[in-house]
Amino acid sequence: MLDVTDYQARVAALVSPTGAEDLPIAEAVDRVLAAPVEAPEPLPAFDNSAMDGYAVRAADVTGATEESPVRLPVGDDIPAGAPIGELAPGTTRRIMTGAPLPRGADAVVEVEATDGGTDEVEIRAARSAGTFVRRAAGDVAVGATVLEPGAVLGAAQVGLLAALGVTEVSVRRRPRVLVCSTGSELAEDPDPAAGQIRDSNGALLAAAVEQAGGLAVRQLWVADDVPAFLAALDDALVDVDLVLTTGGVSAGAYEVVKDALGSRGVEFLKVAMQPGMPQGCGHYAGPGGAVPIVCLPGNPVSALTSFEVFVRPALRAAYGHPRPQRRVVRATLTDAVDKPAGKRQLRRGRLDPDAGTATPWGPPGSGFLGWFAGADCLIDLPADVTSVPAGAEVDVWDLLG
Ligand code: AMP
Ligand code: MG
Repeated sequence: MLDVTDYQARVAALVSPTGAEDLPIAEAVDRVLAAPVEAPEPLPAFDNSAMDGYAVRAADVTGATEESPVRLPVGDDIPAGAPIGELAPGTTRRIMTGAPLPRGADAVVEVEATDGGTDEVEIRAARSAGTFVRRAAGDVAVGATVLEPGAVLGAAQVGLLAALGVTEVSVRRRPRVLVCSTGSELAEDPDPAAGQIRDSNGALLAAAVEQAGGLAVRQLWVADDVPAFLAALDDALVDVDLVLTTGGVSAGAYEVVKDALGSRGVEFLKVAMQPGMPQGCGHYAGPGGAVPIVCLPGNPVSALTSFEVFVRPALRAAYGHPRPQRRVVRATLTDAVDKPAGKRQLRRGRLDPDAGTATPWGPPGSGFLGWFAGADCLIDLPADVTSVPAGAEVDVWDLLG
């Protein structure tokens, strides 16, 4: 049996890095930058006030205090958005936050240190040159590299691009994924006949791909029939970076994926993990060339856990995400658990970040999607133990992190 980390590396090596595309900044949220962004303009573009107050020459208010204030005549107001004006020596002008500092002024006295006068004002504190002035280029200099390749575009980054007048950016393309469910038990009809079930893996994996930053471009369902499976796969292999299949990889009869792909470039093996022991991956020689393919087990809990462990990090690395892995936190296990020897167990759980605890959620078996849907973390239990006591410190993958 292969180690989880070895198989993770094998799957990660399958998926090639994606190229770049240009997008308007509003559509680039959560994407990874492909090229550096240099500031075409300074930020701020002009000297402006950091406070609501009075624009002054610092020299005119030297020595002003509560007890011996300086009185200055007040000129025209400078609201935000006003053009850059002048300040006559020995006078002041009311200025609002963000409004351009008039030529001649070198400081702002905040309104709280004055009597708020509009014709004449009493300045009750001295302010040295530069006080409450946001200098032009004080945040970003022209030509400075403000964002490096690999930066994830969140709110602050998109806001900065907007502030600099950058409307389009070059970002890494989202990996395009084909999701293929197999199983003759999967009903095509919305009302399954007796013995049939609905396809949950298709929806589950499409959602997981999208959440991981990929594009679930196509979903298909195929019965347990090798020629039909291969024909459907070949048909759907247009412009995809990765194929994910579910089902048909274990040790039973009618293992369609294994039967169809075992002799076509895909290796099937066992990974020392529970759930998700049977796995397959490789390059499938499709009509348009070789395509990376990862074959996940059929039980929905196994399929999703396998996606989390192997596919999600590979997809995120493929489009350059700086943190392909889930955030792992340490937590105290609230209940004792038993597990098989020799397999790393990823058990559904509920994380209480405030209490620093993780509670095992539902039975360990892989047939409990209802329980998985109520969980928010995976409790990562090492291979070499058969039980973990309540109160033990464990690694927990935060699925909401
Ligand atoms: P298999 O590995 O194909 O034998 O599948 C293992 C179990 O997962 C069986 O109980 C299947 O019915 C179930 N299963 C496989 N594919 C799906 C699917 N797409 N949706 C829901 N259950 C599935
Ligand atoms: Mg099956």
